[in-house]
Amino acid sequence: LLTAQTLQQEGYRIREAENGRIAMASVRDKLPDLILLDVMMPEVDGFAFCGWLRAQPPFQRVPVLMMTGLEDADSIRRAFECGASDFIAKPINWPVLAQRARFLLRASQALEALAASQASLAEAQRIAHLGSWSLDHASGALTWSEEVFRIFEQDPADFAGSLEGLLASVHPEDRERLQRAFWGSVWKRREYDLVHRLLLPGGAIKWVHERGLTEYTPAGDPLRSMGTVQDITERRESEATIRFLSLYDSLTGLPNRSLFDEQAQRAIPLAQRRGTQLAILHLGLDRFLRVNESLGHTAGDSLLCQTAERLLNGLRACDCVARDRPPGAEVELARWGGDEFAVLLQDLHNPDDAARVAARLVTELAQPYRIGGHEVTLGASIGIALYPGDGACAADLTANASTAMRHAKRHEPGSYHFYAPAMNAHARVRLALESDLRRALERGEGLRLHYQPQVDRTGGLRGVEALVRWRHPELGLLEPDRFIPLAEDTGLIIPLGDWVLREACAQMRAWRDLAYPPLRVAINLSPAQFRHKSLVEDILAALAAARLSGSDLEVELTERQVMEDAAGGRGVLEALHDAGVHLAVDDFGTGYSSLSYLSFLPLDVLKIDRAFVRDTLTVPGQAAIVRAIIALAGSLSLSVVAEGVETEAQAAVLWREGCDAMQGYLYDRPLPADVLERRWLRAATPPAALVLRTLRATAG
Ligand code: C2E
Ligand code: CA
Ligand code: CA
Repeated sequence: LLTAQTLQQEGYRIREAENGRIAMASVRDKLPDLILLDVMMPEVDGFAFCGWLRAQPPFQRVPVLMMTGLEDADSIRRAFECGASDFIAKPINWPVLAQRARFLLRASQALEALAASQASLAEAQRIAHLGSWSLDHASGALTWSEEVFRIFEQDPADFAGSLEGLLASVHPEDRERLQRAFWGSVWKRREYDLVHRLLLPGGAIKWVHERGLTEYTPAGDPLRSMGTVQDITERRESEATIRFLSLYDSLTGLPNRSLFDEQAQRAIPLAQRRGTQLAILHLGLDRFLRVNESLGHTAGDSLLCQTAERLLNGLRACDCVARDRPPGAEVELARWGGDEFAVLLQDLHNPDDAARVAARLVTELAQPYRIGGHEVTLGASIGIALYPGDGACAADLTANASTAMRHAKRHEPGSYHFYAPAMNAHARVRLALESDLRRALERGEGLRLHYQPQVDRTGGLRGVEALVRWRHPELGLLEPDRFIPLAEDTGLIIPLGDWVLREACAQMRAWRDLAYPPLRVAINLSPAQFRHKSLVEDILAALAAARLSGSDLEVELTERQVMEDAAGGRGVLEALHDAGVHLAVDDFGTGYSSLSYLSFLPLDVLKIDRAFVRDTLTVPGQAAIVRAIIALAGSLSLSVVAEGVETEAQAAVLWREGCDAMQGYLYDRPLPADVLERRWLRAATPPAALVLRTLRATAG
């Protein structure tokens, strides 16, 4: 009663329990801030109650003040053993009781706060995968935070708590490094910072980042070292992924251009020291773009992967590649980008070795590929540059290998070429020409069309073929052979082709407006134009802009082009045919055609190639071939135009065999529009001499 009164006066709120059992229920009901406990109680005494209390986790930290009349050492010891926080002996000094209570409450609050901060520290360590440790130098005892145990995957019960215990978990190859770093830092009084591996009980490897520092006694002896351990395994793994992504091609898994460059740069000083040669092979697929466009990108991707596979196999099969490979030279093949690959050959004693590898790869890639039920043949061209002959640094070598590859591609696809300095001179000229052509197209300067007449059996004008010319500011008038291939390689063929189309249509409109009889104009389409998405639209737009109809236009595609693009381009041909545009197969007879294709495409005209016409009279059997072509055309209801007709004798044979029209120097050269107008249109009928010639030829 007195206790309660004293404390109430001090402002405490009091709950009383008359024995241990009731106290248990009361504590469960609501946890008090402080328990004052008498030892001598009926039923459950103070010791038993305190023991019970401490066994219940939620009550473990409540301060318990034992009030005992038994002021002997034994009961005080028992009180503390049961978990009492303090004791006070009877008779009780009341003013002191209130102070004791206050002190105990404050101590318990401090303990609460400490426990909370330790818990949040442990939580923070867990989240950061960052543990802390400390080492007492006098005793050699090492203490770890919970997180260190987790990182080391150790059971706190098994841990020896010493440096040796720690080293047992460190990867054997890293132990010495760690010891050197740690003791070095202790003696040199510097922090240390180290990344090393752990070898975990299960055999797994973890990466950790350790930092530490040491405190010293006033005499300068090490007192305590402490530090942190952070698990950086995940970070290292993502770094490795990033490195992989930045140095390897994700499609084929081959090294990419940057890694290849690194390897090549490293290989050069090595070759220099060993006095051996080194070769860089630059490889480009020959028909990849077309396949990619017609079969789709998934097929394209699969082709590239198959190519990578074949190249790896091909390289493995070349013994000169495997022989004496210097360390670090494992990267030999890289994807350069797009449909291009690069190979680094080291330790060559003879350039022939590079040629052998190139030949092997070319053969390997010439085999047909199977892809989604299709059989596709690609082929590859390779350029080779040698160190030291073709360049002193990796950049020069790769650039020269690439020049040589382009040279091979242009002149002899499916072959390999060694780099020659002349190629660079050639490349420079092309580059200059390219920028001139670009400028000409932008400004519409220097380009013009010539028109070559096509003459029918009556000597009348069947139509004209538009042939482009370029008046170059320095080089003078250029024939299309000088700049069409360049325009095709650089993509300029698209704007150039569009210019030709519009110019030809505009000219037809102008002549129509002058009331000349309607004339059909034929234009040549390059493969890239034919594959260009908006071709049909562009053609219809140009016709509409000139108020012409589809049948005023004829487009010429080479025989090779028609065959190679037949499957993919059929829709385009049909759309043009539906618009009334005539379709002509140019350079026919050069040996690409499949007859079944011809009958399945909506074609109108076959143009017999110049070479046939030239040889009709001189090469035995040629006339029979021409006859067969004409018969074939007849059976497919196609009309036949012979091109490159230069002599009357040729014309005579061709008319006799049944050609429908002819084009060639015999009749006229490709002419500027005004000349054609004067000679062929204004006369309303062809020049009299020509009519005579035509009649004679027909009679002959
Ligand atoms: P092609 O379509 O076979 O054009 C016929 C070529 O034969 C023209 O050469 C023409 O001048 C020439 N030729 C005409 N008659 C005779 C003859 O009796 N004897 C000889 N030996 N040759 C004759 P050109 O104008 O130099 O054109 C060459 C090639 O350039 C053309 O061959 C065509 O493939 C391409 N080309 C010309 N203009 C264009 C164009 O606007 N666009 C595209 N994509 N290609 C064009
Ligand atoms: Ca043509
Ligand atoms: Ca031709």
